[in-house]
Amino acid sequence: MEKELASMDTEELAALVNELGEPKFRAKQILSWTRRGIRPAEMSNIPASLRAKLETIPFGGATIIETRRSRKDDTVKFLYELDDGNIVEGVLMSYSYGKTLCISSQVGCRMGCAFCASTLNGKVRDLTAGEMLSEVTAVEKLIPTDEGRKRTVTNIVMMGCGEPLDNYDNTVRFLKRATAEDGLGISPRNISLSTCGLVPRILSLPDDAPHVTLCISLHAPNDEMRRRTMPIANAYSLSELIPAAKHYADVTGRRVIFEYALIEGENSSDDNARELAKLLRGINCHVNLIPLNSVKERSLNGVSRGRAAEFAALLERLHISATVRRELGTDIDGACGQLRNKHIASREEEGK
Ligand code: SAH
Repeated sequence: MEKELASMDTEELAALVNELGEPKFRAKQILSWTRRGIRPAEMSNIPASLRAKLETIPFGGATIIETRRSRKDDTVKFLYELDDGNIVEGVLMSYSYGKTLCISSQVGCRMGCAFCASTLNGKVRDLTAGEMLSEVTAVEKLIPTDEGRKRTVTNIVMMGCGEPLDNYDNTVRFLKRATAEDGLGISPRNISLSTCGLVPRILSLPDDAPHVTLCISLHAPNDEMRRRTMPIANAYSLSELIPAAKHYADVTGRRVIFEYALIEGENSSDDNARELAKLLRGINCHVNLIPLNSVKERSLNGVSRGRAAEFAALLERLHISATVRRELGTDIDGACGQLRNKHIASREEEGK
């Protein structure tokens, strides 16, 4: 795993300055910049000779190159450019409790879910921990803090492009730095990680990383249906995934969230709701329903919000806590992968 400047902790920076033959106190000074995503060139209390040495180390940066604000709500979508020119996206959503930033963990994705725009062209590469941290700090530099709050981004969800558990080591390192006092200092309670269900990694996560909220993209109440849209269901059956979710809830004491995108004519009938309720019985969990965001490239369609509300009500009657997720930023390609694909398509257009 690559260690970039943006993700180094106090000890790693101390080792680095020692290696560079610099005085110890420089480590703290450097950290005071890097934890805000500020690169060596702008480290005004660091001598030029040391800045030059630091510039030879990969930073792990993410620079915002496009910002789109929704006219309907306060949602803001960002396109980030990584230092090698790759593009990822993030979304900032406003709630009463603060602002949640949805970040990407990979350039593209190799999980192949039939409804997801992020995976259309496969995975290009993993993001480093520094790059994920930089997605957060880039937003903090751009968007002023709400009155009375310490920081702009109060909550993080790993729900953008990519499968975080397919990039396990970098994700764990990111979560440690995001929650560390000398890092971003965000409580694990305010961080969620969404996975399509890599069972061995779900099982090891509580031992390796801070106890964040785990979200599992379920999208079907049985294996046969799940395999139709999610290739990962061929690798791990629900008889493995559901106990892994229960293990996470039991070990961490945190409620697991199951995400369920309602697809017209596929997984949204009353019978499907009953089967889902049965599957999840006895687990400390909540079901987040979302009408599928139709993706241009795919011929799958979402249900109406009315139908989603009925599905939620049926789950509630069966004693499964469920809500329909608010749809934000529908006018700015809020769904993951959509904006990046458009950007790449337009770049290709220009190149013609
Ligand atoms: N790889 C992770 C995180 C990225 S996707 C995962 O699979 O959970 C974030 C969430 O958006 C997942 O629940 C995913 O299934 C869902 N999603 C992807 N495309 C969607 C679409 N078109 N409509 C609704 N939800 C979608």
